[in-house]
Amino acid sequence: MTEGRTPARRGGETMANPGEPSTLRDAETWIFDLDNTLYPARCNLFDQVDQRMGQFISERLGLPFDEARGLQKQYFREYGTTLTGLIAQHGVDPHAFLEFVHDIDYAPIQPDSQLAAALERLPGRKLIYTNGTVAHAESVVGRLGVAHHFDVIFDIHAANFVPKPKPAPYRVMVEAHAIRPESAVMVEDIAKNLLAPAEMGMRTVWVRTEHAWSGPGEKDAGGPPDDHIHHVTDDLTDFLHAVLEGPSDAPDEEPD
Ligand SMILES: [Mg+2]
Repeated sequence: MTEGRTPARRGGETMANPGEPSTLRDAETWIFDLDNTLYPARCNLFDQVDQRMGQFISERLGLPFDEARGLQKQYFREYGTTLTGLIAQHGVDPHAFLEFVHDIDYAPIQPDSQLAAALERLPGRKLIYTNGTVAHAESVVGRLGVAHHFDVIFDIHAANFVPKPKPAPYRVMVEAHAIRPESAVMVEDIAKNLLAPAEMGMRTVWVRTEHAWSGPGEKDAGGPPDDHIHHVTDDLTDFLHAVLEGPSDAPDEEPD
């Protein structure tokens, strides 16, 4: 995390203070994670998805629920996602799995007019990048009332079922949507998902939550280092307002 550090060079330009949100104001492209980023982690949608995964495995493999849950967690550990393990070990149809696990109650997501106002004012193209599906993302942004601010939803199908934080799908997204990483910002609640975009040259914003698993890894424990996190916030809407309203290095515009 770079707040308070000396000037850093990126993309041939010297940034006065890389921790200052206003340095992101001229970004061409904003890439937002969906879950626990565009809506608060306290909505706990993932708890519902997590339960549905256990239910899917239980029904599909004919296992008691507790045993299915154990397998779910085992595949998550061994393959990076439960779905990858289910495809590898059981030939599960990813479409059927994804449709089943996202059949949840979206009522905890409430309209967010403050976020909508911030997105309205924020310059640049806006995309969503989710390890979930387009249908899930559309349900969420529909409830939030921010759907029309996003040009593209890049989902797990578009990523050929390779999830973040693996680097390959970020490259697919950048290529498919002509994103210049040096002028892009990636916003995420899971710190390790910011590693690949930072290495590609994007600026990164970590939306901090209370979930321990979403934080930067301990270097001593072999987790990812935290110098791929350029900005930190506890509230996305506040952060976007800081981007828009903070001090700017740009010369004042000539009066008309
Ligand atoms: Mg997330």
